[in-house]
Amino acid sequence: MSDQRPTNIVWHDGEITPNDRAKVLRHQGCTLWLTGLSGSGKSTIGVALEKALIGRGLLAYRLDGDNVRHGLNANLGFSADDREENIRRVGEVAKLFADAGVITISSFISPYQRDRDRVRKIHEDNSIRFLEVFVDTPLEVCESRDPKGLYKKARAGEIKGFTGIDDPYEIPLDPDVHISTNLLSVSKAVDLLVNHLQKTGIVRR
Ligand code: ADP
Repeated sequence: MSDQRPTNIVWHDGEITPNDRAKVLRHQGCTLWLTGLSGSGKSTIGVALEKALIGRGLLAYRLDGDNVRHGLNANLGFSADDREENIRRVGEVAKLFADAGVITISSFISPYQRDRDRVRKIHEDNSIRFLEVFVDTPLEVCESRDPKGLYKKARAGEIKGFTGIDDPYEIPLDPDVHISTNLLSVSKAVDLLVNHLQKTGIVRR
């Protein structure tokens, strides 16, 4: 990647505000940032939440770790630098979707608090709502679920730097929503998130 920074770049304001878009869509845009270990349930809950919101006539869209790594972030690996860049880019994309008025559901392990805080900041600096959602599942449970067989490979040494095994996961310090999947079924987790969207006024019905 080139280190060359562009010059003579000037922000061009439009004439439409987020409130104008909210009037069309009848809800505000926001980002629900699902973070947790691999296999904790981020994608499963994200898929069910998207379906529930669309079913209520609300515009929701999912950004998912593996999917984004097929395209936009296909050139990034799992080193600390690449993980940081992965989250930076996805955070910017989430911000754009949320600014466009969409209820954006992002499912990324995003193991570092600093990276998650940075994504929060780029939202809040632009007055866009950001909710950090901790999908809290103990490592042993994630490992017993092992939906993609990745823990098995990591334990066998076939994957290096796997979060929770030989790479850190920093537990969210102050998440907006805490989901213990040991206690909540997928549909109860979806109810909790929909209620939270209503309680915070992002969604009115
Ligand atoms: P992640 O996206 O966090 O890597 P996935 O959603 O791909 O995790 O996998 C989570 C697995 O756990 C799925 O097989 C899902 O069916 C299972 N699961 C069992 N109970 C729950 C629950 N309460 N919430 C979310 N997922 C659950």
